[in-house]
Formats: sequence, C-alpha cells, structure tokens
Amino acid sequence: MQKNEIIKKIITTSHYLYNKGLVPGNSGNISIKFKKDEFERVAVTPSGLSLKSLVEKEIVIVDMEGNLVYDSNMKPTSEILMHLNIYKKRKDINSVVHTHSPIATGFAFAEEKINRLEGFGPIEEKYIPFVDYYPPGSTELADAVSKQLKKQDIVVLKKHGVVAIGKNLDEATLLSEFIEESAKIQFIKTILMANRF
Ligand SMILES: [Zn+2]
Repeated sequence: MQKNEIIKKIITTSHYLYNKGLVPGNSGNISIKFKKDEFERVAVTPSGLSLKSLVEKEIVIVDMEGNLVYDSNMKPTSEILMHLNIYKKRKDINSVVHTHSPIATGFAFAEEKINRLEGFGPIEEKYIPFVDYYPPGSTELADAVSKQLKKQDIVVLKKHGVVAIGKNLDEATLLSEFIEESAKIQFIKTILMANRF
C-alpha cells in the first residue's frame, strides 16, 4: 500500500472503532508499518485527539526510532514506544490496534481472565493473557507488552485496555472486536449462571 492509502485506511478504521464503542473519549491508538524507499516507517494516530473525527493531516509518520519523518503539528500517540517495540519483536506484523473497549477493560480492571472463544485465530490458548500494570506510555509497559506479544496476537493490559496485532489493520481490528465480544458473552453467561442457584 502507498502512504496515502495507508493514511486513509487508518482514518476509516479510527472512525469505525470509535463508532463501535471500542475507543471511547480520546482513548486508543492504531498504527500501520510500511516500507518507503527501503526504509521502515510507521503511520500512527496522534497524541491527545479522539479517533472519532481524525482527518488525514493529523496522522503522524515516524521512523522505527519514533522520529518524525514529515513535518507535523501533531505528536505521535503517547504509546508510540509500545507500537515500535512490537514491530521490532514481530517482523511478521504490520499493524497494532490498542483499544479501551469497555467490557474487556472491565475484565482488565477486575483482573478476571477472558476466555478465548474457540475457532478464532491460530493460537490455542484457553485465556487471553494479561500484561502486568505499568503506567501508560512508559518504557516498562512497551517492553512488557511486546514481550508478551512475541507468541500471542492479543493481550489484556491490567487496569488499562487491550492490544491486538495483525498482518494488516483489518486483522488487528477484527481481533479487537473479538475480544470485546468474548468478554461480553462471558459477562452475560456469568450473570445468567449465577441466577440459577
Ligand atoms: Zn491506553
């Protein structure tokens, strides 16, 4: 994909995630890794803005060290280090989606494991793994998340939210929806079962 197409894809996906309720307020951030003249670049959503109504000029392009490649009034998301560390550890991955989807995030705050529904994704794990709490934007969080994602495609950040990765943005978006759906089903099931006794 060309740079312009990538930026358009980030915009449409940002609006989609917001409308689905997966990135309320100004939470959440997404990125795509791509190659331009043999250099690896990352197109990422900006810091401090809601994904609700992002426009193309607000998308930031950085190199693999987080330096701006093109002049911009915007700063990359405060979680840029997390995105870059994931790309450095997973060469097969070209997209990262970080959401604060309310039900999965409720599980993250309660430190209640979310069951991995059968038939979704290549990894046969019973639960979506947790990453311990570190402050958002910290190096520690970036390191812990990228380490956990070496063998996973989705993780729950304790007291924070969710990170999903994919070969492309659609794949990572689908996983973000899937975890919210899984958490919702588990939540409803728990309530219905509790009333049986
Ligand atoms: Zn976050």
